[in-house]
Amino acid sequence: MHRQSPILRWRKFPERYRLEGNRCNRCGIVYFPKKELCECSCKEFSSFQLSGKGKILTYTEIKSSPEEFSEMTPYCVGIIELAEGPKITGQITDATVDELKVGDDVEQVFRKFLAVGDSGVIHYGVKFKKIE
Ligand SMILES: [Zn+2]
Repeated sequence: MHRQSPILRWRKFPERYRLEGNRCNRCGIVYFPKKELCECSCKEFSSFQLSGKGKILTYTEIKSSPEEFSEMTPYCVGIIELAEGPKITGQITDATVDELKVGDDVEQVFRKFLAVGDSGVIHYGVKFKKIE
């Protein structure tokens, strides 16, 4: 793994929170994050905006976490299978672990993710919320 510069990470960022993936022009498989080579060996893709809707495949409660997240514990993290097929790890917000179950429908929400110390830098990330 080589290190990415902060600027490179920033450029990648909008794709992450907008859930922009890509779709193979030949077989139609949708990838998130984007890929450059499809499993059908095609290299031509179109940008594809994922709906942000999906189902919980698995989840867990995080009770202790790196210091910068400690204010938020406990919180739930899950693997979500998006409606278009890709799987993504994200925080599941507005629910306790007891309120979740495998197969629950969720949708992406846009929330403040993390404010870093006194610098006031705010990170946003992909989170999911159960659809009632
Ligand atoms: Zn393909």
